[in-house]
Amino acid sequence: MAVFRYPFFVAVAASCSRPYVGRFAPSPSGPLHAGSLVAALASYLDARAHDGAWLIRIEDIDEGRAVPGAADTILRQLAWLGMASDGEIVWQSRRKHLYQAAYDSLAGHAYPCGCNRREIADSRLGVAPDGAAIYPGTCRAGLAPGRTARSLRLRVPGAGADVVSFDDRFAGRVTQHLETASGDFVLKRADGFWAYQLAVVVDDAAQGVTDVVRGADLLDSTPRQIYLQRLLGVPTPRYLHVPVVRNAQGEKLSKQTGAPAVQPDPTSGDAEVQAVAALCHAAGFLGLDLAPPSDFEGDLAAFWRAAIAAWSRLLDARQAR
Ligand SMILES: [Zn+2]
Repeated sequence: MAVFRYPFFVAVAASCSRPYVGRFAPSPSGPLHAGSLVAALASYLDARAHDGAWLIRIEDIDEGRAVPGAADTILRQLAWLGMASDGEIVWQSRRKHLYQAAYDSLAGHAYPCGCNRREIADSRLGVAPDGAAIYPGTCRAGLAPGRTARSLRLRVPGAGADVVSFDDRFAGRVTQHLETASGDFVLKRADGFWAYQLAVVVDDAAQGVTDVVRGADLLDSTPRQIYLQRLLGVPTPRYLHVPVVRNAQGEKLSKQTGAPAVQPDPTSGDAEVQAVAALCHAAGFLGLDLAPPSDFEGDLAAFWRAAIAAWSRLLDARQAR
């Protein structure tokens, strides 16, 4: 098993003496909306309830989807809501050397793939829960004559050795067979960008993240990330996946499904009052037992004190079940 030696791993981890390091890692494809606010709030509350550090990472690895200015908008929205990173904000688009170094250490487990999207879909193995077509292993034994490499894939173990299980703090025990759930998955995409699965694992390790709190749409990706952590010889964080917010049509809120930005309306009075109202709405979705927004009288600090306590109570109640 390859052991990946992080250029920054020890330095960053040692600089943070807190036992808990959490993070919020938005993709800058648009401003924060009611769904991404729930993920931000949950990760922030969990970090504060554990007296931990909370970091912001801009996941702009998919440069084709990044919207110019969206990251700055997200940071302004978070500042309005009273959420600030406890460390330097990192940008995935500036960390490609780290992903390359991780890939180099995985070389024995990776191979070039010449298949296009259509060819993989035609294998009719179906799609993984995250929407990616399950790869049939066509190029495992080498590219067929005349084919050129499009992407780089990670070989997953065969049936029996491909099981990854973990205990999610909200979802409970999760078990996945990598071979049938995803097959050999992409580390570097046909468009030349590093894949999310690799970048997120490298960054969580390099930043010393101990606890990942994020939306349940990423629950099915977690076993792939844990498998990568094992190959790279880095710790596996604890995971907590919160339910995703859906619209009336049952679609996950996103820029694509037209979710509006969460932002102050300058014509509707005090910005802090509006921040408390937006946070109370998100807290309600998480099931926090809180006073109504008007009780906080626009006092953001009072909201946060009450919400951190309510999050701790929620965790205690879930553990007691
Ligand atoms: Zn292939």
